Amino acid sequence: MGSSDDRLLIKNIGYLATMDAGRSLRRDAWVETQSGWITAIGSGKPPEYKEVGGKVIDAGGGIALPGLINTHHHFYQNLARAYTPATDLPLLPWLVCITPPFRGLTADDVFIAAKVAMAELMLSGCTTTVDHHYLFPKSGSGLIEAEFSAAVEMGMRFHAGRGSMDVASEIIPEWAIETVDEIMNDCQQLHDRYHDPARGSMNRLFLAPSALTCASHTLLTESARMAASLDLGLHTHCGETREEDQYALEHLGKRQLPFLAECGWETDRVWLAHGIHFDSGEIAHLGQRKMGIAHCPCSNMRLGSGVCRVSDLQKAGAKVGLGVDGSASNDSGHMLNEARQALLLARVTRGAGAMSTMDAIELATTEGAACIGRRDDLGSLEVGKCADLAIFPAEDLFSSGAENVFEALLLCFPRQVQTLIINGKVRVEEGRIKNLNLANLLAKHRKIADRIQNRG
Ligand SMILES: [Zn+2]
Repeated sequence: MGSSDDRLLIKNIGYLATMDAGRSLRRDAWVETQSGWITAIGSGKPPEYKEVGGKVIDAGGGIALPGLINTHHHFYQNLARAYTPATDLPLLPWLVCITPPFRGLTADDVFIAAKVAMAELMLSGCTTTVDHHYLFPKSGSGLIEAEFSAAVEMGMRFHAGRGSMDVASEIIPEWAIETVDEIMNDCQQLHDRYHDPARGSMNRLFLAPSALTCASHTLLTESARMAASLDLGLHTHCGETREEDQYALEHLGKRQLPFLAECGWETDRVWLAHGIHFDSGEIAHLGQRKMGIAHCPCSNMRLGSGVCRVSDLQKAGAKVGLGVDGSASNDSGHMLNEARQALLLARVTRGAGAMSTMDAIELATTEGAACIGRRDDLGSLEVGKCADLAIFPAEDLFSSGAENVFEALLLCFPRQVQTLIINGKVRVEEGRIKNLNLANLLAKHRKIADRIQNRG
């Protein structure tokens, strides 16, 4: 056991959504943690800490959730938010537009972009994030390494997706592709250096060819083989637009899912970004194989891609988590807002009863954890799980007057956390990220964004 100084008592929690199997919503609750793990949860009078030591946090009657889990992102794209040439385009022309400015991307750029992305995510309640970085111009080396460094500095739980592209086209330029050997060697090295498979891990690697429009049969097959042998997650974009289906039929001779199946991707280690345009047979298949989907409502609406059939996928047995997607197509990275948008979008096509606040929070917590292979230690607040908590103020200007204070968390304008705890450590206090000079970080980010945007 750790010493008393790594103990934490969070008391005076007005509403505690544990997201356990019974979806318990406790009132007047407290949580005790030690050495990064939850050791006790209760309601009413909390343990007395005067004698045993440890830090006490007063949640001020706020709302506590398990730390939110982001299952799809492209950090570097926050250097091209609201990028004028691409603001009103659908996916493929948008991609053609936003890729060239990043030809000179460096590890320093990625490091700063990652810190900004993580700061934004943390303030929105996110404690675990993935990043799917797929662009490796010759100008830059050590890009994934830079992301891991940023995660350590920010104290975030981080799963890095080593993205990859080996097929150039009118969408993806020659300078942005690598050979399969280069890619697989780098994946192995990153695995050896960073991947920690243990429960409670802060750093993991997954393999993530970008999409079927820019990854060959060989790359997809080799990635699946390595993921199986090293027990890593496997991720790609799939089913985002009808144009990609068309591309698959013309160039691959079949729809995307059967092609992925041929490459060894029919496994529960796989989660696919977007997953909008699947037919009912494909949805049943995804469910039978216990595959996951990273639902990205904001990006799907922004690019006009379509509406993911969340409830059909869930009924079939598939896992559905939430992703903010890259900030050039969202154009923000606010996880609580993503849950709110998932709730609203589900109701557009299926009516007011289609998704509840609890349903949406489940996507952002337990289901996200399941997608990235962390069902055993993340996603819910239970004794023995990781001490990752997001605490939001019970009421603010935008929710003032709410009858149901808990539901207001999603039904009203999404707020930021007052306190964020990751791995038993307080990372956000009184709404501010500790040990971070935000103004300084944003000034550096602005400078890089100016350089990148003028390059196009
Ligand atoms: Zn994406």
